[in-house]
Amino acid sequence: NSPFAPVFGKSFLLEVVRGCNRGCRFCLIGFQNRPMRIRGFEVLKDLVDRGPKFSRVRKVSLIGSAISDHPDFEDLCWYIVNSGFDISVPSLRVDGFSESIAEALVKGGQKTVTFAPEAGTFRLRKVVKKPFTEEQILYAVATAKKCGIKHVKLYFVVGLPGEGEDDLWGIVDLIRKVISLGYSPSELHVSFTPFIPKPHTPFQWLAQFSLKELDKRLKFIIKNLKALGLNYVDYLDPRWAKIQAALSLGDRKLGKIIEYVAEHGGGLGAWRRAQKTFGINLTDYSDEVKDLDKELPWSHIDVGVDKIFLIGEYERSLEKNKNE
Ligand code: SF4
Repeated sequence: NSPFAPVFGKSFLLEVVRGCNRGCRFCLIGFQNRPMRIRGFEVLKDLVDRGPKFSRVRKVSLIGSAISDHPDFEDLCWYIVNSGFDISVPSLRVDGFSESIAEALVKGGQKTVTFAPEAGTFRLRKVVKKPFTEEQILYAVATAKKCGIKHVKLYFVVGLPGEGEDDLWGIVDLIRKVISLGYSPSELHVSFTPFIPKPHTPFQWLAQFSLKELDKRLKFIIKNLKALGLNYVDYLDPRWAKIQAALSLGDRKLGKIIEYVAEHGGGLGAWRRAQKTFGINLTDYSDEVKDLDKELPWSHIDVGVDKIFLIGEYERSLEKNKNE
């Protein structure tokens, strides 16, 4: 419980890739950290050979987004476990998962594998440009089960643009199907985050649903997942999601609020008082749909992605919402 305990436990952290080219429309990394940079396999093997010796640990934790996009990901997993180390990997894309990877993870002591379907229906997954089919998701889960991975964790985002009741039921149905593949409710962990629009992404012009609506949606899903017997359901409190959205979309006026909150303990009460003190309402940031030609607080920052491209992606997401 030491505050100085390493975040990933006692392990050698190995960054495998940096950035991501997939461009899921809600994701900061997919737009701010382009292009994906891939560390060479020979370099990675050399680091595995030398790094843990200096750190005196027996576990290698791989770091990176969409890590299975590394062309040698599977070979790297086997190299690590065949060198006698335990392994830990972050969440994996379902379309990059295989029996061989699952077997390497089991051999390397990984007990939980995490996937992020993000949304409950194929339609909404296409809207956000993470178009996994249900078959792909279930195949990945079935593969994990078959190879002996003990627990599965699934991440979803609630309140994505265009999300309707069907999409919420889609999450519940998907979990029901995952259970039918052999994972008992106690072996499943499901995690929800309210949608938080991010700068420099195609969804930067969009608003969050209201606090009341986010609450309602989360309660609906949690009630239905509990009815399936799930114990491990966690979520980011929508009140914090509102604050995160304001921090994500805010401008320099928020500086004094942040300072006030930092000086007053950092809790929800401090955020409430700060808004009152300075006459600023955070929902003015989080709940505002912006015109495409509005000057945004970050418009002057060039992250290498063209505004025309972002508008195109935004419009394509609207098309996906409309057409299906
Ligand atoms: S959600 Fe994952 S796969 Fe999609 S852009 Fe972000 S890091 Fe890449």
